[in-house]
Amino acid sequence: MIGLGIESTAHTFSCAILEKNGNKGKILSDVRKIYRPPDGEGIHPREASRHHLEFSPKVLSQCLQEAKIKINELDIISYSAGPGLGPCLRVGAVVARSLASFYNIPIYPVNHALGHIELGKLLTGAKNPLVLLVSGGHTMILAFLNKQWRVFGETLDITLGQILDQFGRSIGFASPCGKNIEDLALSSSNYILLPYSVKGNDVSFSGLLSATKAIVSKSKADACFSLQETAFAMISEVVERALAFTGKKELLIVGGVAANKRLSEMLQKVCKRHTCKFFIAPAKYAGDCGSQICWTGLLESKVKQGVSLKDTFVTQSWRLDSVIVNY
Ligand code: AMP
Ligand code: MG
Repeated sequence: MIGLGIESTAHTFSCAILEKNGNKGKILSDVRKIYRPPDGEGIHPREASRHHLEFSPKVLSQCLQEAKIKINELDIISYSAGPGLGPCLRVGAVVARSLASFYNIPIYPVNHALGHIELGKLLTGAKNPLVLLVSGGHTMILAFLNKQWRVFGETLDITLGQILDQFGRSIGFASPCGKNIEDLALSSSNYILLPYSVKGNDVSFSGLLSATKAIVSKSKADACFSLQETAFAMISEVVERALAFTGKKELLIVGGVAANKRLSEMLQKVCKRHTCKFFIAPAKYAGDCGSQICWTGLLESKVKQGVSLKDTFVTQSWRLDSVIVNY
């Protein structure tokens, strides 16, 4: 089976082609173009969708060329149908719908968060993990039970990616800022006390964001270091509690923030205490990409013949825990 996957939930427009043989998947191509807002500004949904419209033909044709596949050789097309920014989601959906109807290829709407998890499992070999999804759009701790991903804990306000990006922008970095903050934090070891907010199995980051902005005038590096230490310790605490409660023997981290070395260092220590295997999505595939969507569509094609064009919806707030996973 050969699939095309289209990702366009937020800053990234990406197309990927994967080949599925039994349970094995091979990435034949994965091409991306990322919208970058001006320094200090966040994603403007209209501007991002214009970016995606402008670059979608180039990304698609490069993806087909690199994979050496013609459109009529595709068995399925999948696209990220949510959650995400409406104007951005619509670009991916329109490209997918046009190709599917013109070439008569089955089409699959895919939940973006599920895409992160399924590609993470494919690339790491994790079988039954507790999942930490930390990205621009999500902060969730998830465990799979009875055909659904159950949310064990999540953020009550902004996500881990958002606190990093919003703080980074406030000190002049261009979004996404996680890597800049990670680099600057390396030059400090001076921890300044910041609010630590864990509520049950959930976390709250908005107070931490305001407090970090309030200490930045002394030293940007100390602020970055203290922000990371506090936010990642909060995440580590709830992950540890979830591991103890669920008894899972695997932890998988997916989402763009998985690229952060300090976060994975802290979580590796948690795993060691619980004799739990540690898996992390490879940095190249941790953030949003077409491969996530393509692989999930290919998995769904085992049990579904695609959907009719009138059901090729986009849903800005499509929660992962409402998706039934039958394959
Ligand atoms: P995604 O939404 O999955 O594409 O992830 C994007 C998020 O990952 C943004 O908030 C980035 O700032 C964040 N990110 C990317 N690289 C790093 C890093 N090295 N450390 C922390 N956050 C990162
Ligand atoms: Mg994402």
